[in-house]
Amino acid sequence: MNPNPLFPNRAATLSLEGAEASLARPPRLGVSACLLGHPTRYDGGHRRHEFIAAFLASRLELVPVCPEMEAGLGAPRETMQLTGDPERPRLVTTETGLDRTEFMERWAQQRVLEIETKRLDGFILKSGSPSCGWQGVKVRLGSGEVVREGIGLFARALAQGLPHLPVIEETALDDPGAWEEFISRTGAGTAGHLGLKKQKGSIP
Ligand code: SF4
Repeated sequence: MNPNPLFPNRAATLSLEGAEASLARPPRLGVSACLLGHPTRYDGGHRRHEFIAAFLASRLELVPVCPEMEAGLGAPRETMQLTGDPERPRLVTTETGLDRTEFMERWAQQRVLEIETKRLDGFILKSGSPSCGWQGVKVRLGSGEVVREGIGLFARALAQGLPHLPVIEETALDDPGAWEEFISRTGAGTAGHLGLKKQKGSIP
């Protein structure tokens, strides 16, 4: 997995520095709030992920963040999608075509500055979201074709503002190797050393 889709080389360099400067405590992780069971999705639902919401939450300090709720969009709300140039997509509501790009970009940049003060060691993001998705978010091209080449607007702001921050999507948690790599990049040690070892397809 590409550790940072916007700054791949820089992320690799800084993550090595982080791994050498081992933390004296378990990692503090940001998490997309819906993965913890918070009712933050457009329909008022959630995407609770048991490994995160039960196993990790009982062992680590997790900091929930929901860009769309925190920005004041509320729930239920109209769904949004990325459109246009995959390199610089717009964030547009699917029914009314309201363009929320600048609004969300401004909010996300400010939120990332606040997150920096929390001294997070990593972030678990919700895949596929036009706000939180890290890789392969659907982008609707002008032709109507849909490609999976986007990054969510909040995720982009994280990558730009905190390019050294280790990030993983919840879909990658089924891969014990990806999880181990993510934990080691936080600088906290190994998943086994921290009691966070994950077996494929199980919780943990
Ligand atoms: S994916 Fe992100 S923006 Fe959407 S509900 Fe979850 S935390 Fe909120």
